[in-house]
Amino acid sequence: MRLTFPHMGNMYIPLKGMLEYLGADVVVPPPTSKKTLTLGIKHAAEFACMPLKLNLGNFIEARELGADTVVMAGGCGPCRFGYYAQIEHAILQDIGYDMQLIVLEPPEKHISEFIVKVRQIAGTKSWWQVVQAIRFGYQKARAVDLVEVASFKARPRELVPGATDRAYKQVLALINDADSPAELKVIQEEALQIMAGVVQEYNRPALRIALIGEIYTLLEPFSNHSLERRLGQLGVEVDRSIYLSEWVNDHLFMGLIKGMRSKDEARAAADPYLRHFVGGHGQETVGSAVNYARAGYDGLIQVFPFTCMPEIVAKSILPGVSEDLDIPVLTLIMDEQSGEAGLMTRLEAFVDLLARRKETREAVNR
Ligand code: SF4
Repeated sequence: MRLTFPHMGNMYIPLKGMLEYLGADVVVPPPTSKKTLTLGIKHAAEFACMPLKLNLGNFIEARELGADTVVMAGGCGPCRFGYYAQIEHAILQDIGYDMQLIVLEPPEKHISEFIVKVRQIAGTKSWWQVVQAIRFGYQKARAVDLVEVASFKARPRELVPGATDRAYKQVLALINDADSPAELKVIQEEALQIMAGVVQEYNRPALRIALIGEIYTLLEPFSNHSLERRLGQLGVEVDRSIYLSEWVNDHLFMGLIKGMRSKDEARAAADPYLRHFVGGHGQETVGSAVNYARAGYDGLIQVFPFTCMPEIVAKSILPGVSEDLDIPVLTLIMDEQSGEAGLMTRLEAFVDLLARRKETREAVNR
């Protein structure tokens, strides 16, 4: 069994770490690219949301590298994610790629099914080894998140253009190569030192913008046109409403690790505006907007794929949050037609607006 999975930003690092710790044979799909998208568009329905098309492209590219089994997360609720895996599998079969499918349903809803599928992947490994592998995957996710946050802080203040990107690429490769928890611990320290070594003008002021929205589009730079990097280069310190380790803590560990942001916290903050689950991360998007506004952020950017139902609901609510809590919101809807030039124009205009707004406020308060 040669396993593959969606590349989805840096998710491949913890997932590969976890599966290889279990002794699985893993084929990581090549980084998501125009070729991936072209393959997805060719075989998926036009109205399917972009993550489905990119997943499909990932699986086809991985199949060409020898993968024979797809591992996908399952879902439940009002959006289309619940049948993503099955649709992708059916398309693969239709085009002649006979791949096995293992769907990991959310353990909080389908624990017995989840256990059966984990056993299928783990083979003869003991449950203790499975727990250790999941723990190792989580540790890798945490290491990746810490260096991402370091890159968000360094990029708008770097003295040598591109220095943050180079350091970031280097540390991701180090984390990816770590083979054991002990080695990872040492590498995480080294990685954070490399990030701290990016020469910066520490007191350079930077606008703070939070990215909120649909998880795939937030985590996969190809699908959001490297929004975090572009904003950093415009002098903006970004934060994101979802990090991998938070997702793992929420959905696999049932929030057992304390001191991290959680979906429950975001949903509670959404309460005055949206009191029920609308699928995906729609409710968390609204709650995160509230939390970031209260934390004094200068602006919010909501990002999601064209036709994403939960985020369309959130989008209709965000103007109210923006008005009540006095925070500007820009919404970016991504699909295969999104162009870089148009995106840059909107980003530059939004950043310019926020900078002037901040200057005016500071002048009034002086
Ligand atoms: S959350 Fe949005 S993008 Fe993801 S499956 Fe649901 S509708 Fe599609």
